[in-house]
Amino acid sequence: MKKQFIAGAKCPQCGLEDKIFVFHQNGDDIAQCNACGHQSIRPKEVEPMEHEDDHHDQPDGVVIFRDRH
Ligand SMILES: [Zn+2]
Repeated sequence: MKKQFIAGAKCPQCGLEDKIFVFHQNGDDIAQCNACGHQSIRPKEVEPMEHEDDHHDQPDGVVIFRDRH
């Protein structure tokens, strides 16, 4: 399971910031607090950056050349 933390997100239950991470479960985005375990389903219409497909993590602005043969 890949945890993606939401910067600046505040847990409604324990009130801590930067503890919320999201993961996919049954087609939904579940947001969970890493501190107290509070869970909530993220609204579909709010999608900050949801495209990470199969890309490997690469820093922005770095071009990696690959030999195609
Ligand atoms: Zn919490």
